[in-house]
Amino acid sequence: MNRLRNSFLFAFTIFLTYLNAAPCKACGDGETFVQGVLKISVVEQSVAVVLDFNYLAKDNARSSLSFWIDSEMDIQSVDGHQVKSYSFDKKAEPFATLTVTFTEELGEREETTFSIAYSGKPSKGFWVEEYQWVDIDPDFMIFPVFNTLENFSYQIKAVVDDVNYKFIDIQKGIFSKEIEVTSVSPSYYINPILASDNQKNGMALFDSSAGDDNIKVFTEYADSARFVSDAALRIFDLFNSTFAKEEQVNFCSVLYRPIPYDEHKITRSFKPSVVFARSHDNIATLAHEISHFWWDRGDALTTEKWLSESFAQYSEMMFLRHDQGEEIFNEIIEKLAARTGNLPPLLGGDRFGKYGDELIYAKGPYALYQLESRIGHEEFVDFLVAVNRNRVATTGHLLEVLEKQTSAEIRKEFEKLLKS
Ligand SMILES: [Zn+2]
Repeated sequence: MNRLRNSFLFAFTIFLTYLNAAPCKACGDGETFVQGVLKISVVEQSVAVVLDFNYLAKDNARSSLSFWIDSEMDIQSVDGHQVKSYSFDKKAEPFATLTVTFTEELGEREETTFSIAYSGKPSKGFWVEEYQWVDIDPDFMIFPVFNTLENFSYQIKAVVDDVNYKFIDIQKGIFSKEIEVTSVSPSYYINPILASDNQKNGMALFDSSAGDDNIKVFTEYADSARFVSDAALRIFDLFNSTFAKEEQVNFCSVLYRPIPYDEHKITRSFKPSVVFARSHDNIATLAHEISHFWWDRGDALTTEKWLSESFAQYSEMMFLRHDQGEEIFNEIIEKLAARTGNLPPLLGGDRFGKYGDELIYAKGPYALYQLESRIGHEEFVDFLVAVNRNRVATTGHLLEVLEKQTSAEIRKEFEKLLKS
């Protein structure tokens, strides 16, 4: 794979780790809406899909649309009264590309409807022999991805042809024979559609509550379920009483999945659910993913993504301090300090460059630690609450909120830190 392709894949992965599924508020109303049916054949290890698009042009003079889609798919038809033709270039870079051409250009905010039917054996997602598992993961492009990175909402109903297979509906916290996933998504599908032979896999649903909090864990390991739900309850306890106190979340479902991490590296946050693929005692990662229920901010293609990742990383550290003590926290801070020494400035850095990850996973959280040390824990927590309350999505806005919450002097100091 070339570098461009790698960075695209990487971009998808990082988008997906923090984007939260939201109910379809505007289906067909003011934005592009996609409604479809996905048929999964376990026997054939294939899918058959029909998608109906209600497309709303976001720019002027749009004469065609392009989608990235798994090159193993075969397009059966693209129908619509304004569709002139379509072509599918399986060898296109960075991904196989389906292009739909219209009979005439669409003006801005002009609507058109068309449907796409396709089928095939996806190159990834079927782990039937080894794990009795099917995963229609957003990264696998089993669904077409707009190459224009625009928002749309969707509603997909999925069915599976093997009676032993059931869907794991992590959003609702149930096993079911059919599933309907709904979301608003920038250019691709962000709800995972997961099906498995749950009986063979020994998948069970473990439910635990404490106070107002309810945690559901899907897993084959009863001990892990207890461990994960106990940890999640402690995590919610801390988050709901600190940075999330004005927007508490009291329900979460966690899929602790059977596919080993080295085969399918997916640990993700889909508010209010987490797909957790690490060893169960890696509760720091669980805290990180849960914190993304709140920290889902900033342009994912630039280091503005620090507004998600650095805050999630620091939330994870706050949890470890609370759960396991100052000593462990201080050790982490020491290591973090050593990593940040020679890094370029966080702001304006290259997200996909050599230091991209270090900037947002080390330098950013270290800057937050420095801020907390400077203004004190209570004021720091109030600042985090204000960041959530104000729906901060840019560093500029963050600095304004900080100044309002503290002082012009603190803002100046912190801004300098981010720029040095
Ligand atoms: Zn993250």
